[in-house]
Order: sequence, then structure tokens, then C-alpha cells
Amino acid sequence: MEKDLIRSHYCGRIGEEDIDKSSTLMGWVHRTRDMGGIIFVDLRDRTGISQIVFDSNDIDEEDFRTIERIRSEYVIGVKGVIRERDEETYNPRIPTGTVELKAEEFEILSKSKPLPFEIEDSSNVREELRLKHRYLELRDPKLYNNLVLKHNTVKSIRKYLEDREFLDVETPILTKSTPEGARDYLVPSRIQTGSFYALPQSPQIFKQLLMASGIDRYYQIARCFRDEDLRSDRQPEFTQVDMELSFVSQEEVLGYLEEMFKNIFYQVLDIKIEEKFPRLTYKEAIDLYGTDKPDIRFEMPIVDLTDIAAKCNFKVFRNVVDNGGLVRALNIKGGNSFTRNEIDILTEDAISYGAEGMAWIGIGEDGELRSVLTKFFEKEEIDNILDRVKAEPGDLIIFCADSPDIVYRTLGNLRLDIGDKLGLRDKDEYKFLIVTDFPLLQWNSEEQRYVAMHHPFTMPALEDLDLLESEPEKVKAQAYDIVLNGVELGSGSIRIHKEDIQEKMFQVLGFSKEKIEERFGFILESFSYGTPPHGGFAFGLDRLIMMMAGSESIRDVIAFPKNRDAVCLLSQAPSTVASEQLETLKLEVAGNEKKRDKTTTTLKEASNLDIDRLGELSQLNIDKNEKEEYRKYLKDRIEFTSKIKELDMSEYKPTVNIHPVDNVVRSDKVNQKYTRDELLSNGSTVESGYILVPKLIEEN
Ligand code: ASP
Repeated sequence: MEKDLIRSHYCGRIGEEDIDKSSTLMGWVHRTRDMGGIIFVDLRDRTGISQIVFDSNDIDEEDFRTIERIRSEYVIGVKGVIRERDEETYNPRIPTGTVELKAEEFEILSKSKPLPFEIEDSSNVREELRLKHRYLELRDPKLYNNLVLKHNTVKSIRKYLEDREFLDVETPILTKSTPEGARDYLVPSRIQTGSFYALPQSPQIFKQLLMASGIDRYYQIARCFRDEDLRSDRQPEFTQVDMELSFVSQEEVLGYLEEMFKNIFYQVLDIKIEEKFPRLTYKEAIDLYGTDKPDIRFEMPIVDLTDIAAKCNFKVFRNVVDNGGLVRALNIKGGNSFTRNEIDILTEDAISYGAEGMAWIGIGEDGELRSVLTKFFEKEEIDNILDRVKAEPGDLIIFCADSPDIVYRTLGNLRLDIGDKLGLRDKDEYKFLIVTDFPLLQWNSEEQRYVAMHHPFTMPALEDLDLLESEPEKVKAQAYDIVLNGVELGSGSIRIHKEDIQEKMFQVLGFSKEKIEERFGFILESFSYGTPPHGGFAFGLDRLIMMMAGSESIRDVIAFPKNRDAVCLLSQAPSTVASEQLETLKLEVAGNEKKRDKTTTTLKEASNLDIDRLGELSQLNIDKNEKEEYRKYLKDRIEFTSKIKELDMSEYKPTVNIHPVDNVVRSDKVNQKYTRDELLSNGSTVESGYILVPKLIEEN
């Protein structure tokens, strides 16, 4: 800094106690108001805003002119004296609103180009543009506050765990594939050509090895990488709070977790959660709510009617039961007020979840039934059903009859949709739930083998150990999930710590002896030198913060997130690499030859773009700055089109969409504003009712 200004205060932290003090503030110009002779500047930093007053009577004329030209987002330093504002100009909306800094000296530390979007209230701006200039978006207090929330949460977690002697240990990022069920991100090795590291999907294997090392209690705020399709609550790289404990039971782990989450909510959000976290077994959760991560902020359980349906007169229901299916229902309290149209929308939703349709019965206030179903049932059967679902006047009962999976999916999702519709899912209410007794394995019909429901290191319930080979699908796991408001926050399990059980587990999962040796030999070996019984847990930090912040997207709580295509729009990662880099790694990208040719030619074309000529042709005056911008823009478009050209479309049939076409007749009248003569009068040379233009094309 040329003027040697030294910051004395943060902008958001000056107050009446500082009146008459000399102070130097530094920050971004948030807003300016030029009152002629006096200029007010709102100066902003991460703590808030201060009002600065530049008075032309006290400031040298040339300097004052500089201040007049100052624009939003310039970074300046100002030295002056803090004084009380006139009472009528107090600003109650900001904490510094009763004082201001009367400027004596200032320095422009850096200038800002006009912004691509307004920082405040950028929510309507395209996400692409916002992510491209993420550093600008992060100047918005809303996002900044999310980062603070995350920081405070991490602080609370560290304190809780460290007070209980958990040790923070780092585990490798360049490592071997961890079977958490997602695709790996791979990193080629230069030294071991042809070999790859995998980025960790979680520190699972290493934290278990730490238990074998005698670390006893470990935790890590760990970065994990999973190459999955992205959703609003998923990112390719995310942060897990990961922990592992030796010599513990499931109950002990759950006890710590419950206490830790309550602690976080109390310390960070000042929310006291008094009740013990409710518990459901996996089976209860599926039966009652159709999902293993139920939102229990509202009731509305799923009711089983399969036994009644098995014997009823309605053939559709009976057939489903005869074929091993289920008939279940939801009772929507007060739902009879839904219009036909609203019920039709629910039916369409049910179909989108896989059901064939949605039968329903509405119960009028007078007890009269509104439904097509009544004619297919005996009165007694209907009474039985209404009894079972505890129907009352004003209710709407919706049914799903199908295979178990479809029934769970349909009613589970409809329950949530209806909860949203009826405003039963209050964002400010936090309902934790612990789910236990998961099945150990799941049959994967695509791969024709069992896969681990949690991961392959999960200990079976001891009473089911004997079933591991004979009836694997019946084995329960010592695994548990913590669910918050219908979102799975995290999961954990007691682990296998004995070589023979682990080996058996790998076999049940269909791994050959060689594969076991190659992928997990080191972990099996570690179990052969004395390993304590152990268990642990991990939960997604970003997802928790997203919920604590009441945010809809995980991207709002990560400083530099990727977009839905796993692209960092700011740095443009992932990107192609120089061919020399590939050569060093002895790698070749399939089809790269062609691709490289194409890219080089298109880029060459782009750099040769004669913007002046384009300007001439389009009759545009393009100045020097715009020229570069246009070149860049066109280059982007050319690259984009060449990428489209490279897509392999050979397997896709052309689609034909035929939309019904309606004639639209506009009834508005055209107001003829100008006469032909008036229009022609603008032409430089007008002759017999025409404008003469210079010749454009010379004939040979
Ligand atoms: N590693 C597991 C996961 O990432 C959590 C655990 O079992 O500790 O889901």
C-alpha cells in the first residue's frame, strides 16, 4: 500500500464506544451516494458495513474527484475519525448504524470492472454464471454465513470428539479402491506406469487399520470422492466426519453420536433437542414409511391391507396378492377436501413412481363415500378397510397394490409429496431417527450376486452368523443409520475384526480367492496380528450443514462446488491435458488422435478469427476491449459445437416429436406509426420513392 494505511477496525465492528477515535477501515465499496459536495460510501467487509463520509470541504479537490468516480466493488482503505451520525440518519438495519467514519485520507487499493451480476440477490442469476464467478457470489453474506456455520459446526465436532480422546489422524488420498459402492476416481501413476491410485470413497480401510494399530479412537474431517450421478444433495467430492472406536458395542457408538448431534444443534443453532432419538428397525421403517430414511416430522404411516385384500371381491387387489404382491394404503387426514384435479395429479405421481394407477376413497363430512371402489366391495369389506386405516369423516384413503418394491416406493414417495402439500415438513423442525437391523446383503440381479448393503466390512448379527452361507439374505447386520428429516445423514457399523469371518464375507460377495488376495489381502493380513473389536460411523458434513442452513442445494454450503456435470466452472476442471503429460504417463485416450486433430484445428480457426471483418459484415463498431471478448465468446462456441460433433450418436435413433399445432389468431391491431414518406425521409439519397444504397458487390 502506497499510503501505509493500517487497518484498525473491521467495517462491521465500529460502534458508539469508538466515537472520536481515529480509525482506518478497509474493504469493498458496497454502495455510494453522491449528495454533491458530500459523498457517502458504504464500505463492506466480511463483518458488515460502515458508512464513510467524504466531505469536499475537508478533502483536496483532486482526491475528491477521484472519490466521485469510485464504483461498486472497488477495494479502498480510508482513514478518518469515527463520529456519531445525526440522530435522524441512524440506520437501524445495520449494527454500525449510529456511527460513521469521517474520511481524512484514503487509498484505492484496487479497482473493479463492472460486475457480471449483482452480488446481493443473485438468486435469479443463472447458476452457470454465478459458479463461474464464485468468488463474487461468496461476497454475499448468505453464502458467507453458510461457511461460518460449517466452520462453527466443525469446531463443535472437534471439541466434542477430542474431549473424548478421539485422535485426528490423516489417511491417504492417493490410495486403493474402497468398496463403498460407487465408481472410483482414478489417478494414473507416473512411476508405476499402467497402475492407478483410486481416490478414497471413504477412509474406511485405513481407519480400521488404525484400530489394528492400537489408535483406539480416531476421527477425521475427511474428503471423500465418489464418481456418481449428481443430485442437489450430492457432490463428487464431499466432506465426511469419519470416526472409529475400539472395544465398543453398537449402543456405545450410537450413544456418542446422539450426544454429539444434540451438542452441535445446541452450540451452533441454540436448539435444544430434549427427546431421545427415536429408533426403528429397517423392517419397521420400510413397513411404516416405505423407506429406510423416513421423515418422521409427521405421522401418516402406511397401513397394510394385504390380508383383507386377499379375501375381497375386488379382483384387481386379489390378483396382486395371489402373485405375491402387497396392498397398502395411506390415510390422508382431511384429504377429502382435495379436488378431483389434485387427486388426478397424485395418481400421475403414483404412476411415475411405478404404480399402475391409484385407487382412492374419500370420506365426506357426513360419512358418505366418494370412490369408484365401493361397487367392487362388499359393505363389510369396505368397513374393515376403513376400520384398519382408522378413517374418519374428511379423510382420503389412497391405495397401492403391486409388488412390494413398487408399493414401498410409491406410498413412501406419495407420503412425502402429500406432507409437502399439506405443509407438514417444517424446515425449522429437526427430527432425528436411528435406524438399525439392516439386512447384511442385498441380491443384485444385474450382477447376479449378493452385494453388501453397507460395505463388506460390516459385522453380521452374531445370532445370524450361521446363516451366512446357507441363507445369506436372512442375515442381519450390526449396522445403523442416522436420519434427519428424511435425509440419511450417515451410517456406520460394528466391523468384522476376524480374518475367517471377513474371508467368508468376501466369498459370499462372490469374490474369487485371487481377487480377495489382490484387493484386500493386506486388510486380511492385518486381522491376523491381533485386532480389537471395533466399530464406527461417518456422516456427510455438507449435507448436515445444508439442512442446518435450511438450504435446498449442497452447493450453497461448499465454497467451490462442481455443477451437475461435475465440472468446476471456475477453473474449468476437468480439462484436457497436454499430449506430453499423457505421454509421460504412457496413456492414450481412446479416439484421442482424431480429437486432438479436431481441437487443434478448431482452436487455430478461432485464433485466426478476423473479428474486424466480422464487425464490418455485421455493421458493428467493435472496440478493442470488445474484440477480445468476442474472440473468446466465439472460441467457446466453436469448442462447444466441436464437442457436440464428437458425441457418438450412432446408437441413438433420431427422435421425432409431433406436437399438436393450434392456430393462434392475433387480434391486436397494428398501429401504423410512420408513413412511407416519413420513413424514406431518413435516407441519405432518396429517388422516386426508394433509398439509394452504395453498390456492395462489384461485378467482374
Ligand atoms: N465408511 C462408511 C461410509 O462412508 C461409514 C462407516 O461405516 O463408517 O458410508
